Parts: sequence; C-alpha cells; structure tokens
Amino acid sequence: MPREPKKPGREPLTDVLSYYRDLGVAELYLERARRAGPETPPQGPSPARGQPTVPPAAEALGLPALAREVAACRRCPLADTRKQTVFADGTGPARIMFVGEAPGADEDAQGVPFVGRAGQLLTKMIENGMGISRREVYIANVVKCRPPENRNPEPAEIAACRGYLETQIDLVRPEVLVALGNFAAKFLLGTEEGIMKIRGRWGEYRGVPVMPTFHPSFLLRQPDRKRDAWSDLLAVLERIGLPAPPAGGR
Ligand code: SF4
Repeated sequence: MPREPKKPGREPLTDVLSYYRDLGVAELYLERARRAGPETPPQGPSPARGQPTVPPAAEALGLPALAREVAACRRCPLADTRKQTVFADGTGPARIMFVGEAPGADEDAQGVPFVGRAGQLLTKMIENGMGISRREVYIANVVKCRPPENRNPEPAEIAACRGYLETQIDLVRPEVLVALGNFAAKFLLGTEEGIMKIRGRWGEYRGVPVMPTFHPSFLLRQPDRKRDAWSDLLAVLERIGLPAPPAGGR
C-alpha cells in the first residue's frame, strides 16, 4: 500500500513542498504576501459600482505589468484628452511613497509625475529638505491621466482609477506614505477635512502611517508655508529612523 503523505502543519517549507510533490502536484501558486500588521479595511470611498478591479494578472506580475495595464486604460473620460498616462516615478519597493493629485501639462507631455515647476520643488523638498535622493522614493498620483485645463479630478474619475493606486501601494510596500494636498489626503485617509487643518497630523492607510502635507503647487503660491512642509517631512524621516539633514541644506 502506498505511503500516505504526511499532511503539512507548521513544518519547514521544504517539508510542505515534499508533501505536495508526493501528491503529484508539480506547480504551486503563492498568494502575494500581505503587509504585516493588523488587517484594517480600506478607508475612503468604495470603488464605483460596476467598475472592474485591477486585473489580477497585472497585480500578480508586479508594477511593470500594472503600468502596461494603466497605459491601455480607458475606464474614464480622461483617456480621451490625455497625451499619455502618468504611472509613477520610481521602481519600488521604496520606504517612502509620495502621493499627489493628478498629472499636469508637463507630466502629460513627459509621462512622469512631478516634473513641472511643482515637481522641481518636490525634488528640492526630497533632496535638500530630507537629504535623500528622489530615486530612493516612489511617486504616484491619485489619477493617472491629466484632467483637461488642470481642473480637479471628478469623483467618478477617482473611483475609476483608485484600484491602480491601491495596487501600487500594495506592491511598493512603503513604510510611510506622504499625502500631497487635499485629494491625496482624502484618498488615503477618507477624510473630508481640508489639508490646512490636517497637515502634520499622522493618519493611517491600511496599517501604513500617512503624513498629510501641502502640495508643492500650493507652496509655489504660498512660499511662507514651506516651513510647515519641511517640518512634516522631518517627521517622516523621524518615523522611519532616518537622520535629518543639516539645517543648511534646506
Ligand atoms: S484616469 Fe485612470 S481610470 Fe481614467 S483613463 Fe486614466 S488610468 Fe484609466
């Protein structure tokens, strides 16, 4: 009588694999590992009814496959007016992930987020204010296509696009998220409170700490608020145990 394979319990992985080999199973598909920590339900509005979620294949294959999925996306009217989609800057994984609102004209032209004047200020905030290279962080927007005339993204457009950012965050696995401005703060924290009120106060998105701060576009208009943004970014560094740069760099 053939030997009954021993069922796996908390044995080493090699034992578990031997068990399945004994059963004649040649290939196993592993579910993507979830971030450690308590499971909390996603905050913010739910996806619009009838909207498909991010295709499982793109999620399983990682960020490059997701970027290809986004490049072909026509799930909302912004697809008709964009030059190209703007997926992200960075390769992931990254310890710090910045989330902005939507691409502008420069981003639409280049296909990279935060490359216009506001983007240059963001780079300065990261490199001079935090003392780290922009290449070390991951940057994405709530919506991946430019709203015409730089208008605010509509709720239906955000709902159509939200699965992409959610999956990006899952795949980048940041230790901390920085919400740049009202739309990113609302997306990540599900709050209706404005950024003037909540900036500098830690929140949480699915167990990941979120620091809401001012969008660089706002700081271009209100440079006197840069000091607040610097202090928010220093709090981010402190949260993940990175040293603050010398004050002269800011
Ligand atoms: S904004 Fe998002 S949902 Fe709309 S077309 Fe672009 S990628 Fe698709």
